[in-house]
Amino acid sequence: MADFGKSFHSRSRTSASISRRSTRYVNISSKSWALEKKWGKSNVIIVPLGKRRVPANMLSGITHAHSTYSFDGSLALSDLQCFLTDSRVDFCLMSEHVESLDYETIKRMLTDYAALPTTGCLMIPGIEIDDLHILIYGVTAIRPYMGIEDLAAQMFQDGALVFVSHPVKVKGTVPAVILPWLTGVEIWNTRYDGRGAPRPWNLKLWAELQREHGPLQPLAGVDFHKPSDLSHVRVEVDCGKDPGAILKSIAAGNYSLSSSGKKLDPQRLVGAPSFATFVFDLAVAINRKLNKLPFRIPRSLKRAVKKCV
Ligand SMILES: [Zn+2]
Ligand SMILES: [Zn+2]
Repeated sequence: MADFGKSFHSRSRTSASISRRSTRYVNISSKSWALEKKWGKSNVIIVPLGKRRVPANMLSGITHAHSTYSFDGSLALSDLQCFLTDSRVDFCLMSEHVESLDYETIKRMLTDYAALPTTGCLMIPGIEIDDLHILIYGVTAIRPYMGIEDLAAQMFQDGALVFVSHPVKVKGTVPAVILPWLTGVEIWNTRYDGRGAPRPWNLKLWAELQREHGPLQPLAGVDFHKPSDLSHVRVEVDCGKDPGAILKSIAAGNYSLSSSGKKLDPQRLVGAPSFATFVFDLAVAINRKLNKLPFRIPRSLKRAVKKCV
């Protein structure tokens, strides 16, 4: 496993390491077709390979993703990398569920990450601890640990970045133990908050935590479990395609968030209501009710409700 802890502190900007993608694009690539065949029609996803919207020297990535190292991820690590490469994602901050991992599995997982091809989407290992409401991005090494708090503290000391995950699941406030570790807050999780806009509650928690903690970076995550979870939110950085450089840029706030290619300014949204979130929550509630009915609802109707989401 390459130790990117060092480069994390010395930002490398060698132009050779910057990904250069052709601006030519197709609707769906051969690898995606292969994935499609493998998982059958129900998992077909037409990858929206629109024109690349960020300048060639900028990297466009996603955060919060799970492979089959997590109990609920649907793509094995290398398939996920292929899928994201095909979807023109330059880097991915991964967040494997700690519930599916132990010391030996994390060791094996880090070896597997290090063995991935260096071309295509750069897969940066990390974990998610739901009990502490945190995402830990940029895990480089593992030592024996006593419990999840000890594990998180260890990773923080090794230079990983800690973010509050899907704040909608945080009742009240975050556990005090995570406060000294925090780099930021996932102000938008498109799986839990819908694809329309960040959830006002997340922005409120972000603002509150900043009052007691000082500046915290806002991140938007896709919470990828399956191909259809890949939403339009991206994190864009202007640095070398190297885990340390990417993490350093994010920690320093040298990045921007975008939604369908449009720049997002979370600060401007604090305190504002969100109609998109209201519609999303309503659609989720209706969907839940439909699922509880004693008779079967036509798939087309369910799909129509989901479309609102
Ligand atoms: Zn989670
Ligand atoms: Zn997750």
